[in-house]
Order: sequence, then structure tokens, then C-alpha cells
Amino acid sequence: MSNLEFQSPKGTHDVLPLDHQYHTYIKKAVRHRARQAGFKRIDPPMFEERALFERGIGDHTDVVEKELFTVSKKGADDKDNRDYALRPEFTAGICRAYIEHAMDQLPQPVELYSIGPCFRYDRPQKGRYRQFHQFNFEVIGLSDASLDAQLILMTWKILSDLQIMGRLRLQINNIGTAENRKEYVAALKDYFIGKERNLPELDQKRLETNPLRLLDSKEEDTQILLKRAPTLDQFLSDESKKYHASLLEYLDALDITYEENPLLVRGLDYYNQTVFEYWDKSTGAQNAVGGGGRYDSLIETLGGKSTPGIGFAGGIERIIWHMKESGVEAPNKDQVDVFVAQLGPEAKKKCLVLVNELRELGIHTVGALGEASLKSQMRLADRFQARYALLLGQMEVKEGTIILKDMVAGKQKAMKFEKAIPEIVKLIGEDNLDTYSIKDKLGKYADPGI
Ligand code: AMP
Repeated sequence: MSNLEFQSPKGTHDVLPLDHQYHTYIKKAVRHRARQAGFKRIDPPMFEERALFERGIGDHTDVVEKELFTVSKKGADDKDNRDYALRPEFTAGICRAYIEHAMDQLPQPVELYSIGPCFRYDRPQKGRYRQFHQFNFEVIGLSDASLDAQLILMTWKILSDLQIMGRLRLQINNIGTAENRKEYVAALKDYFIGKERNLPELDQKRLETNPLRLLDSKEEDTQILLKRAPTLDQFLSDESKKYHASLLEYLDALDITYEENPLLVRGLDYYNQTVFEYWDKSTGAQNAVGGGGRYDSLIETLGGKSTPGIGFAGGIERIIWHMKESGVEAPNKDQVDVFVAQLGPEAKKKCLVLVNELRELGIHTVGALGEASLKSQMRLADRFQARYALLLGQMEVKEGTIILKDMVAGKQKAMKFEKAIPEIVKLIGEDNLDTYSIKDKLGKYADPGI
């Protein structure tokens, strides 16, 4: 490997065909649940102005301070003096789009979903990549604990559809309003006066820039000091407490089991009230498969009018890892049904037409249209793991026949050329044909708005 001249960049990977089976299956589950709940798809650009992420997510969050993947503009329009960054997540871009396209004019809440790559220039390690894929939901325009419960239910259902919910535990917390947190942060800073030197260096810095991050610090020294520190729930207003109590009541009504976690804060600045994450039961906070929360001031921070919202993002690579760990196999639809082998110019011409007809009927067909011997073509059919092979040599062309070979049973028989297709269809079964037709009628285009 190491003597290859080029390899995929550090922290990235090729999504190879086997993993695409998982990607496709996960996307289907996401689209299905999203449509059921009235969500519509949005794809914001993969890069945005750097300032959008700095303002929205927060200057002193890990994602912006350490991990933002900035875009070099060498050779681009030199009048453009803005800085750009690849999206580290979807929410900031979608809220920018909500404002830009005046989505406040639409019936609220506006429910949007996205699926695609995100980028964080982090140190790569297991479950942590520089390019990874997320599916993402946003519910914008209303604030009500029942919406939080509905979003959590939808994400719960998707993880159950993918058969990994049994390995996960839903963590939930309420981090109050911005005012609640301001008071708490002041109290936390007070508490640490005189104790700073006992904190690891990184956490000393966090105490300055983003003290809430101390709560989910992985450092043992910090955790020990936190045991006697004031806790966030002591600073929650009655309004926040009531909001949280309603949410838990709704989750109970929906039979969703959760663990209340007073230390869960999530890494990004824009959250308020509800925050939640799905943790691996055995490893806890490390490599969560997804998380989300409410962000009632984000749109205003980005220049829109005050509009509440809540969102969730799931990490596709980590979900695939869990599916594989628990032995969940994504359906393989790439199997080869028929391999067509031929010899001689006449046979080749007939096979070209035959391959096309088989494919049109929804039969996955591979044709060896090269010049190799029949024997080596049959070896190829084996390597493709084809279920059946059709052989057309010079003799068969002359006689108007074709040979059908069952590759599993190893048996073969000759038949009239015209019989080959109906016979194959019978063997595969009408129900298993991979047909695709656009059933939805096309209408006259008129811009329906967003
Ligand atoms: P976050 O909003 O940062 O919690 O990200 C949401 C989800 O995206 C996480 O729970 C992970 O599943 C996934 N994720 C975030 N960062 C990465 C990364 N660097 N590599 C792979 N997956 C990630």
C-alpha cells in the first residue's frame, strides 16, 4: 500500500460498492421516515462563507476553532475577498437558506432534511474522519416540546429500522435559556477561581472561552473538580423546567426510553433547552451515532428575525459500523443474473442484441463481448458469481440454438435461441425482475415556491 503514488487523503475513504449497499439502505430509511413526517429535502452547498459557521456555531467551539476545513481560493475571482469553509454540519447552512428564501412565509414549522458529506479537519481516528456523511433534520418556526418529542421519535424509528437501537441509549438534557446559561457560566467561573491550575491545559483554556465544554470534558482531573461544582440544573428557570418536564411526559407517552444526563451540553454554541444524543451502550460519549437539540436564537444570530428551531444529525459511517458489528447485512442488489458468452462475429452481434433485451426486461446481465475463448469466458462468469450463463458459439448460431447453463447446479442444456429469454424470466421469476419505470405522471411546470 505504502508505495502507491496516490492514496485517498488522510481522514477520507472511498465509499466502495459494498459500503454503498449500506449507504443506500440508510438513505432509504431516512427518506421514508422523513416523507412520512412531511419533511422536504434541501441540499445546501458544501461550502459556505466561513463567517456563517463562526457566527452560527460559535468561534470557540471545537468545530470552528480547531476543525474548520477552509477553502483555498487560489486562481479564483480575485475580487472575492470572502473566506470560505467546507460545511462541518448542516444546520448553519440550512438556517441561512431559511432566511435567504424567506421561508418564514411558508406554513410553519418548515421541516427539512438533508443527506450528504460534511468535513471537519480533525485528527483522524476510529469513527472520526475528515470527510464523513450525515443525515440531518431541521424543524424550524415553532417551539413546542411536542415537536422535540416528534423529532426524537423519528430519529429513534430510523435507528430501530436499521436494527441498531438495541445497542444505543438515548441521552437527554435541558440546558435552559441563554440567560440561564449565562448565570450558570458565571457561577462555574467563580467556582474555579483559585482552582484553575489543577485543570489540564486545554480545560484551562475552555474555562476562558467556553466554560460549558468543561462539563463533557474527558479529563479525569476536570471531572473530579466538577463533582463539587454548581450544576446547570440549579440555574434552570421554571419555564425551562416546565418545558423539559413536558418533553419527558411526551417521550413516556411514546414509549421512548431515555437516560437523563445533566452533563450533556453538546459542542455547539447555538443550542438551548433540549439537547439529546444517541450513545453506544458500551462506550458512552465516545463516538455517538447522532445528536441534536433546540436552537431558538440561531436564525436571529444569522440576521433573520427571531425564529425557533430544532434539529438532529446522524453519522452514517458510525451507523454502518454498528450495523456490521451487530451482523446486519444490507441487501445486495448488484448480483449478476445472467452472463452471456459468445464466440465469432455473428454470435457477437446476436449477443449484443440479446444482452440489451435481457437488461430491458430487468435482468442484470453482463456480456463478455471480447475475443476470449469460451472457456475463459466461463471462468469469468464464475468470478462474476452469475446465476446463469448463456453461450452462443459458431455452431449454435448456425443451428439457431443457444446453451443455457445453471452456474450453481453446473448443468446445461441447448434450446432454440428464441426460447432463451422466456426461460430465463421463468427461472428468475417475474417478481424478481429489476424493472424501473417512472410511474408518476409529469405535469406542467410552474414554480411552486419552496
Ligand atoms: P455532532 O453534531 O458533532 O454531534 O455530529 C453529529 C453526528 O455526526 C455525530 O454523532 C457522529 O455520528 C457524526 N460525526 C461528527 N463528526 C464526525 C467525524 N469527524 N467523523 C465521523 N462522524 C462524525
